[in-house]
Amino acid sequence: MTRRQLSGIGVSPGVAIGPALVVHWGLPKVPERAIAESETGREIARLHDAIAAVAANLTELRRRAEQRVGPDEAKIFDAQLLMLRDEDFTRGVERLIHDNQLSAEQAFEFKALEVRALWAQSSSERLRQRIADLSGIAIRILYQLLGQPIETLFERVGKDPVIVFARELAPGLTLQFDREHVAGFASEEGTRTSHAAILARSLGIPCVMGVFGGMTAISPGAPVLLDGTHGTLVLHPTSDEIREARGQERRRHALERALEKGIGQTAITLDGTSVTLRGNVDLPEELEPAAQHGAEGVGLVRTEFLLMGRTELPTEEEQLRFFEKVARRFPGHPIIIRSYDLGGDKFPAPFRPPPEANPFLGWRAIRVCLDQPELFRTQIRAVLRARLHGDVQLMLPLITGLEEVERTRELVREAAVELARQGIPAADYVPIGVMIETPAAAILAEQLAARSDFVSVGSNDLTQYTLAVDRGNARLADRFTPFHPAVIRSLHHIWDSCRRVGLPLSVCGEMASEPVAVFLLLALGYRVFSIAPPALPLIRWLVRQIDLDRARQVGDRVLAASTMADVVHAVEGGLSEHVNLKLLDAGRLPKSRRQASFTP
Ligand code: PEP
Ligand code: MG
Repeated sequence: MTRRQLSGIGVSPGVAIGPALVVHWGLPKVPERAIAESETGREIARLHDAIAAVAANLTELRRRAEQRVGPDEAKIFDAQLLMLRDEDFTRGVERLIHDNQLSAEQAFEFKALEVRALWAQSSSERLRQRIADLSGIAIRILYQLLGQPIETLFERVGKDPVIVFARELAPGLTLQFDREHVAGFASEEGTRTSHAAILARSLGIPCVMGVFGGMTAISPGAPVLLDGTHGTLVLHPTSDEIREARGQERRRHALERALEKGIGQTAITLDGTSVTLRGNVDLPEELEPAAQHGAEGVGLVRTEFLLMGRTELPTEEEQLRFFEKVARRFPGHPIIIRSYDLGGDKFPAPFRPPPEANPFLGWRAIRVCLDQPELFRTQIRAVLRARLHGDVQLMLPLITGLEEVERTRELVREAAVELARQGIPAADYVPIGVMIETPAAAILAEQLAARSDFVSVGSNDLTQYTLAVDRGNARLADRFTPFHPAVIRSLHHIWDSCRRVGLPLSVCGEMASEPVAVFLLLALGYRVFSIAPPALPLIRWLVRQIDLDRARQVGDRVLAASTMADVVHAVEGGLSEHVNLKLLDAGRLPKSRRQASFTP
């Protein structure tokens, strides 16, 4: 990359060109101001006035969001409004004013920075993602308390639609501008799941996040070419670069039209082999998109959302209601409920573990469930009860040995007996599947397959643990790739083990949502994929272009490869015989950090 080019994570697809508007969306300088004891009451009143004014302002932005993008997206502002009305937080600020005789702005800044530091250190990705929301509120409150109009931050020079660049994009910032005044958004912080990213996608505005160093590299007013599909920014683009980007945009639209035509078609290869495409559901909101994009069931329900932001455990009834809802939405198809994949900071308050030196190698996933049978039993009971409403199955994450599967079977048997004794209608059996995510499970694949009802490859963790590369570490993003020969051989061994035992096998990691990786998996023999809902149309279209006889030859070449470069060469060469790689590239989903290097 030359210094004119900056890279990050594409979070909202499309190409945009315009002058940069560098927004210094940060905390304003707060002057030190000692207050007398007698003034604390007045400062606390000022604090409450500011909170009320900012709440009114956010409510207005919420209304704008509802008008421009819809009621679901408008709910994003509820998170900020909720934070703003957090009584613990406000009481903390009041105490600082009162006990330390700080001005309202000094006290608020102090408290906001304290909470921010706490969240930034947290290993919970969700908490880290909410930092932009917290900063958004803090900035607005401080501007309000200092009596400075926040609008001065957003003044444009000239008439052309701008590329807004900020260190951090709070959701309010995406709606602060009129649509016709903004061509694109970019920021140093943030990921695909940040609220601002979600809004940019809904608004159809290209957006790139994670552009480290952008605030210093981009001068205000400089022409910028932003590519939200590939996650790049080019400063002072040449006419050739602009022409190429526009060509890519045309290909993206052409592919989109092809994908639209594919709605309602089955995923069948050119030689007539059917491939099963299921959806991954991480949040309840993904249920509808999965169904609308024709998912044949749900291959992975990530149940951790049930615990997020809560202080108590979800009840059996609550879990049952959700599992039943999923089952009813996909009649006749499997619904694979993954038991809690807790780890790091993803713990409900009653189970917060002591800090660990290596949380990724620590007390997580199936280990927590087996060590906390009460937590697990409630989930198992909900699964057994939900099985009366559909083909609900149970899947276990981070398995390393047979004992974990056997112990789970015992717990399932005990729960079934207990439910029967209590006269509660429930199934007396549930198929139990194993996620292959660790080298131990991969090596033991045949033994695990012999004792399980199905196997699903968690390719994210399998890659992470096989290569000893942290999947969330941006610095290692290039090294985190399933195109490594060791991962390929592991995938082959798993496939071969399941074939010998005759056990259903699928892939539910991000590989299954990435077209080049899906071609590789098809070449290796995999036929069932569980996919992020937005990727379903593209993967279905891809499957329909593939001739498996030719793909199998690619599989042989890939298995003979001993370097990553050889793997990439074989896969790209094979795929280019089936589809125009440029076309595919143009239609790729924006990359998340963990997907960042999935594609060669
Ligand atoms: C995986 O590891 O590939 C997987 C599907 O599980 P998660 O991404 O939730 O860890
Ligand atoms: Mg995993």
